[in-house]
Amino acid sequence: MDEKTYSGFVAIVGKPNVGKSTLLNTLLGVKVAPISPRPQTTRKRLRGILTEGRRQIVFVDTPGLHKPMDALGEFMDQEVYEALSDVNAVLWVVDLRHPPTPEDEMVAKALKPLVGKVPILLIGNKLDEAKYPEEALRAYHALLPEAEPRMLSALDPRQVAELKAELFALLPEGPFFYPEDFAKSDQDFGEWVAEIVREEAMKRLWHELPYAIATKTEEVAERENGILYIKVLLFVERPSQKAIVIGEGGRKLKEIGQAARKQLEVFLNRKIYLDLEVKVYPDWRKDPEALRELGYRS
Ligand code: GDP
Ligand code: MG
Repeated sequence: MDEKTYSGFVAIVGKPNVGKSTLLNTLLGVKVAPISPRPQTTRKRLRGILTEGRRQIVFVDTPGLHKPMDALGEFMDQEVYEALSDVNAVLWVVDLRHPPTPEDEMVAKALKPLVGKVPILLIGNKLDEAKYPEEALRAYHALLPEAEPRMLSALDPRQVAELKAELFALLPEGPFFYPEDFAKSDQDFGEWVAEIVREEAMKRLWHELPYAIATKTEEVAERENGILYIKVLLFVERPSQKAIVIGEGGRKLKEIGQAARKQLEVFLNRKIYLDLEVKVYPDWRKDPEALRELGYRS
């Protein structure tokens, strides 16, 4: 069998909250990237893998552009630029419900150097709730006339399927980057799992602990009974925070674990045992060493 295969990377960029993660999830047909109504919850460069027949797209979901605030903030900007280099297409997602803001201008500016090198698709999103979609799209397009504009709702699988077909058509010939059972073979799997756990924790602990949690996958092991065992550590900065994450009678941690496990089981289509442990790691957010250790720097 020597049939040709086609593969490539597609970056998803845009300011926070425009619907990047939602679009990725609809493209993949499963919930992979963390979604939250809060801006800036996607900290890491996170991949989703779409394989259909002989075509594979590796998606990069980026945290969006914003002003650096601390060591973590600086890292987020760097991630955006890493995500943009060496891709086959860029999806620049904007929110058609509103006209462009300075943040959108920043994104457009960041994309300028890619013009002529990589196809840039301007995705006017939230079409379902936009009052003046044409006008809004025109205003965004003016920021980067070289981008190819279109409109959709990331929540509409049929509209997203058209985009998917277009992306598949852009792929060059080449081998797949990921085997289909990447749980066994790829390091990124651990990062992906850790990100899902962190997101589920953040959703439930936003008021008490904004941005104070980091996660790391410590172990992934096949069990004889066919269950995939995964251990993830949750790091907080102080012992008082540890108590909050665990919750009364361990309830909070259990809730986080159940929600994350459900997502993992849907994506992997198999039974998962997810083991969570909370650890204190003082001042990890301010410490570049710690950030590296927690997977925030390569
Ligand atoms: P990100 O920060 O760019 O990744 O944005 P998210 O994917 O997390 O989406 C932010 C919010 O916008 C969430 O509440 C989504 O449900 C919502 N959203 C995303 N796409 C659409 C859409 O096409 N229509 C509507 N009405 N809401 C959307
Ligand atoms: Mg996101």
